[in-house]
Amino acid sequence: MLGAIIGDVVGSRFEFHNTDQYNFELFTQENSYTDDTICTIAIADAINTGADYGSKLHEWCRKYPNPMGSYGGRFAQWVASDTPKPYESFGNGSAMRVSPVAWAFDELDDVLREAERTAIPTHNHPEGIRGAQAVAHAIHLARKTKNKSDIIITTDCKYYPMFQCKQYYAGVFDETCQGTVPVCMKIIEASTSFEDAIRRAISWGGDSDTIGAIVGSIAEALYGVPSHISHEVFNRLPSDMLEVIATFYKRLNEKSYE
Ligand SMILES: [Mg+2]
Repeated sequence: MLGAIIGDVVGSRFEFHNTDQYNFELFTQENSYTDDTICTIAIADAINTGADYGSKLHEWCRKYPNPMGSYGGRFAQWVASDTPKPYESFGNGSAMRVSPVAWAFDELDDVLREAERTAIPTHNHPEGIRGAQAVAHAIHLARKTKNKSDIIITTDCKYYPMFQCKQYYAGVFDETCQGTVPVCMKIIEASTSFEDAIRRAISWGGDSDTIGAIVGSIAEALYGVPSHISHEVFNRLPSDMLEVIATFYKRLNEKSYE
């Protein structure tokens, strides 16, 4: 969950100004949180408080209406609506915000069910749901085994048909689940550490902050998060978000979600 936020903050300044450089500066004064962080916080807050995912997404996005990079068009309309309805999105938003459920729930069936629940307030298209489930599934396996090769089951076309769809080219801006999640899995497959995974994700280009968020969310479970990196990110988050993160990890450490 923190890994997603780190990937988002590191990628924030490259979303619309991609870099293909691996050795870019991880943090500058330009880095900030974007929609990926806000939505991840909303899901964590829903778990912390027992509220439903859709209400918390709506509440947090309204609280932060103008993040760096803005919200996507249809999602922005959903946020603005007083009676928000799912709109069959298969955008990568369902995949970037899902990570908290893969930590708070221990059994795969529960993780996949909750992943679907986080998607459906907006992303009730089958690929939108599968995008969230594939990422949550990967995090679940990474938590259990810490082994990259064990998470490759999540790229099995039988479960996640998006993985058979096409060739992927670095730098292409594709904000669908089908165009993003497979790329993130390939980056994870090649990665050797948390920081390496983030650097590969951002220098791939395209929808940098969201690729960073998804890759970061899986890399956290595989490698852990170096404290000097989380420290930089904590310095860039408002106090209400920090409180949600603190509560979430406190309860994880106490195993009080189980
Ligand atoms: Mg974003």
